[in-house]
This record gives sequence, C-alpha cells and structure tokens, in this order.
Amino acid sequence: MARYTAAVCRLCRREGQKLYLKSERCYTPKCPVERRSYAPGEHGQSKKKISEYGVQLREKQKARRIYGVLETQFRRYFRLAAKKRGVTGETLLQLLERRLDNVVYRLGLGGSRPEARQLVRHGHFQVNGRKVNIPSFLVKEGDVIAVAPGSRDLVKIKGLVENAKSRAVPEWLELDAENMRARVARLPRRDEIDVPIQEHLIVELYSK
Ligand code: SF4
Repeated sequence: MARYTAAVCRLCRREGQKLYLKSERCYTPKCPVERRSYAPGEHGQSKKKISEYGVQLREKQKARRIYGVLETQFRRYFRLAAKKRGVTGETLLQLLERRLDNVVYRLGLGGSRPEARQLVRHGHFQVNGRKVNIPSFLVKEGDVIAVAPGSRDLVKIKGLVENAKSRAVPEWLELDAENMRARVARLPRRDEIDVPIQEHLIVELYSK
C-alpha cells in the first residue's frame, strides 16, 4: 500500500503547526516547528497572501497528514461521508477516527498515529477475535480490539500497554488494559475529536 515516506516533520512545518507525527520528539524543544516555525523550502519564509482555495486546500492537506491518508483514499472517505445522513464534515472526521490505526493511537497504544499504524501492520491486533493488519480498517460500535495472543508477551507491547494506563482515553472507547483489550462503546461525537481541523473548509473544497 502506498504511503508517504519522506521526512514527516516537513509536513508539520508546511502546515505551520504540530501534527504530532512522531512520538516523544513532538513534545520536546527538538521539534522543528518550535525551532523553525516557517514552511520548508526556498520560499518558506516569504509572506504570500493565501487565496480562499488555498485555505481550503491547506485544511484538507492538514487532515490527510494528521491521519496519514493519501489523496485517493481521502476522497473515498469524503464520498462515503457525503452519502451518509448528517453533517458531511463531521461524518468525514468520524470515518477517519474509526480507522484502526487511529483507534490504537487513541487508546494510547502508540505514541503517534504512524507508530500505531506500524503496530497494526505488524499484526499485533485483533478485532472481534480475528487478526486485522489493515490500518484503514473501520471499527464500528461494539467492536472489541485486542492485542493478538502472540504479541502479548512482547516487551514493546507490554511497555505500550503500561504507558496507556496513564493516558487519557476518549469516552467513546473503553480500555481494559489488564486484559489488553478495548471496546468501541459508541462512535465519537465531533466535540470528542480533538483535531485542529475546520472540516467545513474541506467540504467546500470538494463541493466546487
Ligand atoms: Fe511534527 Fe512531531 Fe516533527 Fe514536531 S517533532 S515537526 S510535531 S512530527
């Protein structure tokens, strides 16, 4: 599956804010956004007025980068959201939140979404008793996500579960750290999705 493999810190600098794509480094003064708060590249420091289209485009790019989704797949999520009842922008974010790699991150089992994605790819998780190694797998209400039996004794996994005990888990997820499992109690509401995205701008962009 195609994915972005270049330096991820450039993505944060391009968006002018922290997207938390690395683990510990994002919370230290070593974060490049802290040290160079301008866009990368030759024209990074030039002050150009950004058009309405540019603002919408940047918002969409930011959302893609936060969730680690390529353009084609992001458009697919948008089409799916547009077909569903409700506010399209909110449904879009809800779909992104339902990705298995995001859920693992939200449970505190990965220091960042890319790290959580890698854990999923390596087959460390099951959904409803079946191994799932597809980061884009969409969980639904009632699903049970568990560390795969073969991964439970791994030092890395044990450390991540230990760390997860001290992290705040959103209310739509129920973590049972002792048993290395979690349940999707319900789907997330917009006010529980703490991403700095103005989703209406993405809807406006794709509705042109
Ligand atoms: Fe973004 Fe984290 Fe890199 Fe800072 S350290 S630029 S927040 S990925």
